[in-house]
Amino acid sequence: MSDRSVRPEPVEGRWTLAQSLARAQAQGLERIDAQLLHLFALGRAPQERAWLIAHDNDPLDEATLARLEPLLQRRATGEPLAYITGHKEFFGLSLQIDGRVLDPRPDTETLVEWALERMPPSAVCDVIDLGTGSGAIALALQQQRPLARVRAVDASVDALAVARTNAERLQLPVYFIHGHWLQGVEGRFDLIVSNPPYIRADDPHLAALTHEPLQALASGEDGLDDIRAIIEQAPACLKSGGWLLLEHGHDQAEAVHALFQQAGWKNVQSRQDLAGIARCTGAQKA
Ligand code: GLN
Repeated sequence: MSDRSVRPEPVEGRWTLAQSLARAQAQGLERIDAQLLHLFALGRAPQERAWLIAHDNDPLDEATLARLEPLLQRRATGEPLAYITGHKEFFGLSLQIDGRVLDPRPDTETLVEWALERMPPSAVCDVIDLGTGSGAIALALQQQRPLARVRAVDASVDALAVARTNAERLQLPVYFIHGHWLQGVEGRFDLIVSNPPYIRADDPHLAALTHEPLQALASGEDGLDDIRAIIEQAPACLKSGGWLLLEHGHDQAEAVHALFQQAGWKNVQSRQDLAGIARCTGAQKA
């Protein structure tokens, strides 16, 4: 490729949309990220990618370019797209997201789907989401099961503020609790779900996640400190026959399986994420 096609020059001082998109990609951005940031700078919805293609010869005005430039730079430093646009789709919900909470991953939808299998559509059930962050899991469950009584805990007051804002915007009656896992939580639940921190403290992959809250990501030497705490606390808060379903790292299914088994849980089993990796493990209170 010639230098000119990698860095197209603006025509009469103005970039076309296609040129601007090509330039963003030449700077290392994924095509989808470049498209979504252009739509954001243009004040258009993320669903309007087809609009971009239909208008690729349109010139970008100065004001849009001025808005766009810092957005592209933030993405280039590895800041999650959701923090830049302030928005993420999760299980069909539009969530407000910022650096106070983990950026919800599509893989976590596996945990939501599994939890929904355990929640009857036409009966009341008591569910609690531990370490709710943006509220993603709890809100998805409440939206899918209007009769459920969904609670959500987080140790971070900042995260709870984000989650409460999302619940209000989506008009979902999730009840939020400030606390550390199940300490101080009252009542007994049919189902406990959690996507806790599970990355090993020395995992080199943490270096790529510096924009997200460390306390939502890392969990001790083997990454299992929080999972161990949850498995230990859960039986006291579960009804008999109740389930605990956990998300964990791509290589932790066996270890989490063993933790459940050592603690005497029954029906220990795992579920795969979108990439076919055993990503969630859960069990039933004995
Ligand atoms: N799945 C995230 C990652 O590996 C981590 C989320 C978590 O620790 N719960 O990037």
